[in-house]
Amino acid sequence: MRLILLGPPGAGKGTQSQRLIAKYGVVQLSTGDMLRSAVAAGTPVGVRAKAIIDRGELMPDDIMIELIADRLSDADTASGFVLDGFPRTVGQAEALDELLDGKHLALDAVIEITVDDAVLEGRIATRAQESGGARGDDTLETLKRRLAVYHAQTEPVAAYYRSREMLKTVDGMGTMDQVGEAIDTLLSARTEA
Ligand code: AMP
Repeated sequence: MRLILLGPPGAGKGTQSQRLIAKYGVVQLSTGDMLRSAVAAGTPVGVRAKAIIDRGELMPDDIMIELIADRLSDADTASGFVLDGFPRTVGQAEALDELLDGKHLALDAVIEITVDDAVLEGRIATRAQESGGARGDDTLETLKRRLAVYHAQTEPVAAYYRSREMLKTVDGMGTMDQVGEAIDTLLSARTEA
């Protein structure tokens, strides 16, 4: 199973990825997690990423594409993966298509989780409180920037997959379990088709 989870910050991509990992035995490829590890390790990419993440902006496409290309060459991705946080621009989506074509692999589905901006602001405020500010970008100010970036740069990625008839949308306003069930239903409909 090879999936992309699309959705704004706070939509629950990380949580739903965890569910899918447990259910399908695939690996989660979270570019946000990869960058946070690079920041913690102080690598050149990490040093560059820190300021960009804290501002709520996006890392350059070429760096992100290289990160994902490297990761997709690891053996543990052979049985499938859930991409969480990538692609975030149409350029990244095009590069991913090329990368997968080169490996003769296809995506099974692209799932967009939609949530209203006002609800996301509430969720991020809670996440910031619960994590004790562990994520420097979990502030209302950065969230607003991240949402603006999402609307401008990542919503066109949803349109990109919609025009290829690959996009499935689930309502992300319900509970974690409700959203998880909606994703399961969608994936089983696809498997039976
Ligand atoms: P996330 O954990 O997915 O919300 O990502 C946290 C931050 O990492 C984002 O706000 C961006 O600054 C950066 N980032 C993660 N994935 C990407 C990507 N695919 N392209 C550009 N920047 C990214």
